[in-house]
Amino acid sequence: VYSLTASSVAGEGQSHAAVLFVVDSTERDQAERQRQEFTANVSHELKTPLTSIMGYAEIMENGIVKPEDVAPFAGKIRAEAVRLLTLIEDIIRLSQLDEGGAPAPFEPVELLALCGTVRDRLQHKAAAHKVTLAVTGKPVTAQAQRRTLEQMVFNLADNAVAYNRAGGSVTIEAGAEGGAPFIRVSDTGIGIAPADQARVFERFYRVDKSHSKMTGGTGLGLSIVKHGAALHHAKIELQSALGVGTTITLRFPKA
Ligand code: ADP
Repeated sequence: VYSLTASSVAGEGQSHAAVLFVVDSTERDQAERQRQEFTANVSHELKTPLTSIMGYAEIMENGIVKPEDVAPFAGKIRAEAVRLLTLIEDIIRLSQLDEGGAPAPFEPVELLALCGTVRDRLQHKAAAHKVTLAVTGKPVTAQAQRRTLEQMVFNLADNAVAYNRAGGSVTIEAGAEGGAPFIRVSDTGIGIAPADQARVFERFYRVDKSHSKMTGGTGLGLSIVKHGAALHHAKIELQSALGVGTTITLRFPKA
């Protein structure tokens, strides 16, 4: 899409000179459209848990809840509040990454240890899903924003557990190939169809909305990975086959 702007320039002693500006507005329009879409999606995603919270609170206020139902109702309110909080945290993180990253320093980060931290954080969830979670590889150091990188690997491994099957496995690997550090998260889960592979990194894009709601995801996990990778000048490689599993590799620049 091109926008044309014609402008008249009157020069001295000349009658008229016409200048034609040709501006490629495709990118600008697309960015604007994405922003509008994002705002609409955010509003919708924030309203859903809030509407449930208000519903439960109203029922409790009206006194029609049996005493034994009070605790489960409070539990539902808390779960929706947690969902809301996770969503708000993800939105803040994305907007920080949009503005060039959180105001955190880049420092040498040992990747195998970072993978171990992520495994420890996810061990409980993996056990609940009956998924084995392992870390493998060699110690290797990359320049990174520690918290951002940990969040990225967490998001990948969290998905690898969530979109898996009972008895399945997840491997988080750190190492270097050709002097370039990498982190790789592989799973034996449901896989991502070729048509969805490029789209899963878009904000709020989910292959299966109902399944994703069940897994408690915000739909922002992989966009955070994408923006975080750009911040680290890292490449993302995705390999996936339906019903077989998914492998996502983050490749960092050579030290
Ligand atoms: P969500 O919070 O829904 O998990 P993400 O941005 O992390 O959002 O992922 C987007 C979508 O990509 C998910 O809803 C899911 O459909 C798909 N997806 C992500 N990771 C995997 C994976 N390891 N295996 C299968 N599907 C995945």
